[in-house]
Amino acid sequence: MNSSCAFTKTNLMNFDRASMREYFQSLNEKPFRGDQLIQWLHQYGVTDFDAMTNFGQKLRTLLREQATFEIPTIIREQQSKDGTRKWLMQLSDQLSIETVFIPELTRGTLCISSQVGCPLRCRFCTTGLQGFKRNLTVAEIIGQVWRAVRTLSEEAGRHDHQVTNVVFMGMGEPLLNFDAVVKAIALLEDDLAYGLSKYRVTLSTAGVVPAIERLAKVSDVSLAVSLHAPNNEIRDQIMPVNKQYSIEALMDVCRCYFGKNSKRKVAFEYIMIDGLNDRVKHARELVKLLQGIPCKVNLIPFNDQRCDLQPEPTFRASSLDTIRAFQKILLAGGVRTIVRKTRGADIDAACGQLKEVSGC
Ligand code: SAH
Repeated sequence: MNSSCAFTKTNLMNFDRASMREYFQSLNEKPFRGDQLIQWLHQYGVTDFDAMTNFGQKLRTLLREQATFEIPTIIREQQSKDGTRKWLMQLSDQLSIETVFIPELTRGTLCISSQVGCPLRCRFCTTGLQGFKRNLTVAEIIGQVWRAVRTLSEEAGRHDHQVTNVVFMGMGEPLLNFDAVVKAIALLEDDLAYGLSKYRVTLSTAGVVPAIERLAKVSDVSLAVSLHAPNNEIRDQIMPVNKQYSIEALMDVCRCYFGKNSKRKVAFEYIMIDGLNDRVKHARELVKLLQGIPCKVNLIPFNDQRCDLQPEPTFRASSLDTIRAFQKILLAGGVRTIVRKTRGADIDAACGQLKEVSGC
């Protein structure tokens, strides 16, 4: 045997409650110890085994030898005039991701990443421009939440409940990192961890149809769908994923996502791009498309994506008048529609502006 063979400690940040219980069983401990660890780690933010006072000395020593907590670290912070904060977080292999916190009067939304880069290459999105590096682990996904909660609590000088909502709308396509994302959602909704209700955790997808079906079976998370077009012709042009899963197939899974008896609604996101998808005829087409689907629509003003990777503007934002007129048609057609306020654009923290290399 080679005694110098490297021993890697188990990163406990990777476990949701079920896997933490299994881990403790593998140590010949009672599964409820796993519940206690989840609570120390996520509810109280404690990563020092010696501070876990309901564990005996022997167990603490064992854990110190076998286990660890690896959590992304904040290497840069930017704050917008409107209070939005963007953190650049570093991962253990030196890659980095961005996480955005959007405080409002009655809630605080944390926007988290699920991949480094993104393989989908939507034409309007900066994240896609930089290509895809890799999936994030559970530890790196939930670690963004852990880090944000800790940072905000330390600043407030007490444990703080500023993060009231979490959205998977940062970098990456969450449904292409299915297992890790589902575990992270379980932690977000776990009363011993972050205790958020299913209404306050939202997964946003560009429309990976079979994975939406799968998700409905294993999770009750709220669903947002990046639609951005009323028909296949336009959607094909701006979202390559549409060539694989057509708008009709997407509408079919959205119709069923919450089940017949639910009052919950899928949120469709629709970026308003000048001349491309913002005309009266597009609004009318959209009303037709959404007929019979329990949904609401968020109209998003297009955010500029110019940076080193994209020096020339490819698209322009619709005017506010155009957006209002579009909204009116949807409302008249019985579709609940709001215009999303752009937050954090001055620090490139708005939708579609997140990227790995912040200097871009
Ligand atoms: N891949 C998932 C999660 C990313 S969410 C998804 O596509 O839903 C990021 C949101 O920002 C998506 O709705 C995306 O379509 C939107 N977005 C991307 N680029 C944008 C831009 N330039 N302006 C406004 N919104 C943009």
